Amino acid sequence: MLRQRFNPQKKFRRKTVQKSLATHELMQAIRSVERVVDSKKHGEEKAVEDQSFNRQSSFDIFDLTPQVLENISYKGYESPTPIQIQTIPAVIIGKDVIGIANTGTGKTAAFLIPLVDKVFRNKFERVLIVAPTRELAVQIHEELRSFSKGLGIHSALLIGGMSINRQIGELKLNPNFVIGTPGRIKDLIQQRSLFLSVFKNVVLDEADRMVDIGFIQDIKYFISLLPPVRQSLFFSATISGKVNEILQGFVRNPVTASVKQQEMVENIEQEIITLKPGESKIDRLHDLLAQDEFKKVLVFGRTKWGIQKLTNELVRRGFRAAAIHGNKNQNQRQKALNMFKNDEIQVLLATDVASRGLDIEDVTHVINYDMPASLEDYIHRIGRTGRANKKGVALTFVS
Ligand code: AMP
Repeated sequence: MLRQRFNPQKKFRRKTVQKSLATHELMQAIRSVERVVDSKKHGEEKAVEDQSFNRQSSFDIFDLTPQVLENISYKGYESPTPIQIQTIPAVIIGKDVIGIANTGTGKTAAFLIPLVDKVFRNKFERVLIVAPTRELAVQIHEELRSFSKGLGIHSALLIGGMSINRQIGELKLNPNFVIGTPGRIKDLIQQRSLFLSVFKNVVLDEADRMVDIGFIQDIKYFISLLPPVRQSLFFSATISGKVNEILQGFVRNPVTASVKQQEMVENIEQEIITLKPGESKIDRLHDLLAQDEFKKVLVFGRTKWGIQKLTNELVRRGFRAAAIHGNKNQNQRQKALNMFKNDEIQVLLATDVASRGLDIEDVTHVINYDMPASLEDYIHRIGRTGRANKKGVALTFVS
């Protein structure tokens, strides 16, 4: 196979002025992951020890009602993940929480489990969960339904691309949980169908993404409408300047729970792909996808237009492929995602924003067809593979 194993030292010596900042950042990411793996090899387990799944303890260590524990075990979760160990007890005793964690760490269950428990104990509790993308909101909603099965807990999903009238109808039933994306939440507030003053429990999920997408003003507006006495949970992979702006006005005396990014990427073999003179990128991609081990492949590109063009070409060449990006409506995006999840297609092509937070099992390869715009995007992208302690491969085209 025409791939190169990445050797950081060698690459850095060869670094030339042509290298873009993104290439440099990519190399840093790969090096930082390799450092973690190296330190493990040399027996320096300490730094990463705390990050691994705690196999000794089960969910019984938390003060949860038996019905909630039963739903957790029915879902097949045996032991809490590090972010859950840190978050669940804090939420149970009523603290605000800042969770610094990515998708893949079990952060959704970290906030859902104690909130479901809280609502089960008191059906007057109302919870608002705000997520940056429709796909993420759908996933949170699905997970909520499994944790609250048979507990008489009602929920509404407020996302664009779906009937607003139906959502207005659901809100009239005063659901315990309301999960939504900023755009639709704002519409429903303006139509006077949704009143944030009743939500004494609020979760902002993937706050850094919300800021990236440009929802910062909407989020500040929502916070201004929330009751001043409330329990606030804030999740973000990183806390940058703008994210901090939201954070300050949101939480009070918070507990901070954090999981290092390396944890998500240490199961991932990272390689770069350089093209030979005259070789076309699409032909190389074609060669890779034609190999047996490329069973479930996520391909990332930078623009909606580029991703669609590449998808059309792969389909023309006989690959089972579909795309998700901002020019697709909600039904098309969900359909493509479901086909990929159910192994009806081999390749899912996506832009960064469309793919944010996606939880798909058994992705064998992530291919960065275009370089990610930032180190953070790179980590987010490759974190789609190598999940739940499975091995994954991330390949990045470097031109
Ligand atoms: P998240 O970080 O919330 O996107 O979760 C990533 C994946 O891990 C999801 O498929 C969860 O269902 C799964 N998960 C979360 N917590 C646990 C756990 N304690 N044990 C096993 N799987 C889990």
